[in-house]
Amino acid sequence: MDPRLNPALARIREDVRATQAYAVQSAAGLIKLDTMENPFRLPEALQQQLGERLGRVAINRYPAERTQDLARALAAHAGMPAGCGITLGNGSDEIITMLTMAVSRPGAKILSPLPSFVMYGISARYQGLDFVGVPLTPDFELDEAAMRAAIEQERPALIYLAYPNNPTGNLWDAAVIERLVQAAGAVGSLVVMDEAYQPFAERDAMGLLAQYAHVLVMRTMSKFGLAGVRIGYLMGEQSLIAEIDKIRPPFNVGVLNAEAGLFALEHAEVYAEQARVLRAERERVMAALQALPGVQPFPSQGNMILARVADAAAAFAGVKARGVLIKNVSAMHPLLANCLRLTIGTPEENTAMLAALQESLQ
Ligand code: PMP
Repeated sequence: MDPRLNPALARIREDVRATQAYAVQSAAGLIKLDTMENPFRLPEALQQQLGERLGRVAINRYPAERTQDLARALAAHAGMPAGCGITLGNGSDEIITMLTMAVSRPGAKILSPLPSFVMYGISARYQGLDFVGVPLTPDFELDEAAMRAAIEQERPALIYLAYPNNPTGNLWDAAVIERLVQAAGAVGSLVVMDEAYQPFAERDAMGLLAQYAHVLVMRTMSKFGLAGVRIGYLMGEQSLIAEIDKIRPPFNVGVLNAEAGLFALEHAEVYAEQARVLRAERERVMAALQALPGVQPFPSQGNMILARVADAAAAFAGVKARGVLIKNVSAMHPLLANCLRLTIGTPEENTAMLAALQESLQ
């Protein structure tokens, strides 16, 4: 809006006014396969039980012990190593903001490979920090030499490695990651392993967390099946976590959210089964995409598949016209030219998506 319409707008930073808002696509009336949500709801009986539990929560009080209970339950669920601490965020998005604030000082830099999760760069820029993006190789592997050179030259305060990565879906080589963690340690950088997609992956970074005091592991309940509840968590060496926790807004996780998170962990086997179905569906969708002429899917360890087509804009529009919302990520980075990101949904949704894609490509 023009500051002449409301002079108070002039008080908002120019760089903020110059940015586009984080875009959320409308999914009204469409099969929603654009944001890596778990498509399954809780079984009806559990949904009822959850409603009763939430109905008993004292919402007149600020969050207190139940949030601590949730933090302990998440640490146990994740198998957090001894000597580590945990802090909670209103989704891992808020943890990214907390981390940026924790390292924010003039000249501080934040680094991640690109393409990767967009919030790392957005958060850095809003805090006035420099963001350093290091391109992945054309097949979306870490460029070890370029990463190492950037770490040594830029000496970033913080490095994000999304493991598996979004939007590419792949898990990078564990030996390369460990060498980069060591290079980061040598210049005093923190390394955040962002494990948002851990429920669908065959490896995780808990071993690095146990071994290196400058490694943090960030996870979320969003992809597990609670995207609407907004619970993210960060684990790391306890004195480091204690400092980051000072920045956390004191009551950032609401009582209803904490209760729902605890309820979900009490029924972790239900979510584990949903994740198992989604992993199996991912393999089925992968095989179907590989068999589709004109589609090049990339290996995935997440609940999404990145696939290249000849004309992503046309394919996206064709799929949408057939009732399925996916994500065209082509504009995010030159390496993603003509790439679509397909979230894995229920078997029926995936079948509909595959049919819509096939028809759109004809
Ligand atoms: N990290 C990665 C890699 C993601 O893809 C996302 C969400 N798409 C997040 C973090 C944020 O998740 P949330 O805020 O829902 O916890």
